[in-house]
Amino acid sequence: MNDSMRAQRFYADTGTVVVEDVAIPIAGPGEVLVKVAFCGICHSDLSLLDGTFPAELPVITQGHEASGTIAALGPDVSGWAVGDRVVVAAGRTCGTCAKCARGDAANCLSPSIMAFGYDGGWAEYTVAQAIGLTRIPDNVSLEHAAILADAVSTPFGAVVRTANVRVGESVGVWGVGGVGTHIVQLARLVGAAPIIAVDIKPAVLDRALDLGADYAFDARDPELISKIAAATDGENLNVSFDAVGVTTTFEQALAAVAVGGKLVGVGMSADTPSLGSTSDFNFGHRQVLGHLGYHNEDIGTLATLVSRGRLDLSRSISQIVPLDDVQRGIDMLKEPEGNPIRILVKP
Ligand SMILES: [Zn+2]
Ligand SMILES: [Zn+2]
Repeated sequence: MNDSMRAQRFYADTGTVVVEDVAIPIAGPGEVLVKVAFCGICHSDLSLLDGTFPAELPVITQGHEASGTIAALGPDVSGWAVGDRVVVAAGRTCGTCAKCARGDAANCLSPSIMAFGYDGGWAEYTVAQAIGLTRIPDNVSLEHAAILADAVSTPFGAVVRTANVRVGESVGVWGVGGVGTHIVQLARLVGAAPIIAVDIKPAVLDRALDLGADYAFDARDPELISKIAAATDGENLNVSFDAVGVTTTFEQALAAVAVGGKLVGVGMSADTPSLGSTSDFNFGHRQVLGHLGYHNEDIGTLATLVSRGRLDLSRSISQIVPLDDVQRGIDMLKEPEGNPIRILVKP
């Protein structure tokens, strides 16, 4: 193996993105070197580029949604072999905090996020903790495997863990792009009914209907909240998901929550929406819950659902760009043309 590789690098001081030759990283104890097959482009990657999320490191390789094959094993790794098809977890545990020391790595007190705290997957190779790998069944493509590391697993965490959506509950989803479409699909999978998609793009709303929504409403419709009430027999939503995270979507999603229901915030921005008066909020005994990420085991659950034909990701990959064209992929997500769900980088 050559000792250098192509990798995207983001320089925080100048705000520039380049693709250049860097040394292939070495897998340390408990780690593996993964030859990256595909790595998704996420809105949170854009948030580092535009400064919404502060840079943790002066220069970093971005991309936190990677699939590939194991190229080399570091010391003290068992149960894995060169050539195994894997998804790389988008975060690392510290291994030394009180939770990690007790074997409770899922609740690590100082986790580090891939592509923010350490180099990510927009490169030919990336180093991953063996403890964070998920094996991918042979009948699941590496394209679909890549997006299980965030674009599908973060919605899974929101629907199954944070919202704990139960069969027969009514669900609304504000913003049915990369994250929201998968929330619709997973809400359908767990038996939510009805499912209401809210967006401003007709093509995106049509797609949400194809993927399992029962209703699709325009967010700008002045009758939106009364239409949601009519669709839910006057009860409003048991669970609203805000996959956008701006003031208007958050406040609309909250306004449509039933008495005793919950709003789950998934999308993020610097906006500061209001909960309204404390009397309305408390009389309605509503809950507002922030959501982030997933548990690593959820990637394995999703791989099984895809492998067994329960979850169809055939529409989820909108485009694949070569690593040298990563800037074009970033631009396509920034100024969405053709309403992409996920764009992948192929090193
Ligand atoms: Zn992401
Ligand atoms: Zn820890």
